[in-house]
Amino acid sequence: MKIFGTNDVNPRALAGQRIAIIGYGSQGRAHALNLKDSGHDVIVGLRKGGASWARAASDGLAVAPVAEAAADADLIAMLVPDMAQETVFAEEIAPHLTAGKTLLFAHGFSIVYRRIVPPREIDVVMIAPKAPGDLVRREYERGRGVPCLMAVHQDASGEAQARALAYAHGIGGTQAGVIETNFREETETDLFGEQAVLCGGVSELVTKGFETLVEAGYQPEVAYFECLHELKLIVDLMQEGGLAKMLKFVSETAKYGDFVSGPRVIDEHVKARMREVLDDIRSGEFARDWILENQAGRPRYHAMLERDLSHPIEEVGAALRARMGWLDPKHNQKQETDDPATQAAE
Ligand code: NAD
Ligand code: MG
Repeated sequence: MKIFGTNDVNPRALAGQRIAIIGYGSQGRAHALNLKDSGHDVIVGLRKGGASWARAASDGLAVAPVAEAAADADLIAMLVPDMAQETVFAEEIAPHLTAGKTLLFAHGFSIVYRRIVPPREIDVVMIAPKAPGDLVRREYERGRGVPCLMAVHQDASGEAQARALAYAHGIGGTQAGVIETNFREETETDLFGEQAVLCGGVSELVTKGFETLVEAGYQPEVAYFECLHELKLIVDLMQEGGLAKMLKFVSETAKYGDFVSGPRVIDEHVKARMREVLDDIRSGEFARDWILENQAGRPRYHAMLERDLSHPIEEVGAALRARMGWLDPKHNQKQETDDPATQAAE
């Protein structure tokens, strides 16, 4: 595996090129501001009258309707939600993709599942920061960056990788390292991670643990602390120093319990079902299902969201969190007025 750093960047790769950032959400805002502060010529492409327009303008960026921004740009970064990309591309970007331009993604979904099939005579690349946009921006402001994945899907110019790397450099990614991958690997591992482990796996582990304790007669408040609240302490240790640091900081009893009971809960059956999840991602079954769900107006999505939000753990948690001042977003308002994560949630 190769990790690209600042020394691998050809600063001339994007010299004189205008960059259009399409979408101004989590990633779009961070990329646009970082690239502008790095000296690039940036224009943000948005729906006229959309909620992001005023925010991008007040952040000091040039803003134009999507088609206009795409027409004027050499590199077009597709940072609208994955489910919106097909239509935005077909209606407002494709007509302006003349030879020599670059189309950039931060996630490979649209390309891998062929919702977007770009013309052959352009470069198609990916720079996928491994962090939410607010961290991409914050790290850049501190003179650092977050690691990125880089991939080249089409190299019509012979410059595709150099351009992608220069873009990653402009958002701060080369400070932390840029790892080469391909669209398929990034997309399939990203979907698998969020489904089996990060979002799906963890939320089910937490709620099933909570249910087990409450059904056995323990107080929900106590179960909440054990199964949800303390998760962050463990995850922080793992992120800082891997399993070794976590194991170093928990008690000997916790370690022994981890060794004997962890594999009983998360056993080979779980791994077999993880493989099924991965199979559905690789075959395109998951993508087909999610696209159809969108076309139908997301009825199951909304029902499942409602089911998660009305779980008893949410009610118990809200009451307990209200007593923990340091968790209250208002508590941190002074420091966080500029935090796009807070704004993005609005
Ligand atoms: P987002 O939902 O935060 O923001 C999308 C923005 O697109 C909106 O704020 C709006 O300005 C604009 N938009 C929405 N619909 C539009 C339309 N029809 N026409 C024009 N503009 C429209 O999206 P995001 O999370 O920044 O995701 C953008 C891309 O980055 C996706 O491909 C995603 O997979 C990828 N990505 C996201 C993260 C993350 O942490 N959020 C991390 C890595 C990669
Ligand atoms: Mg869930």
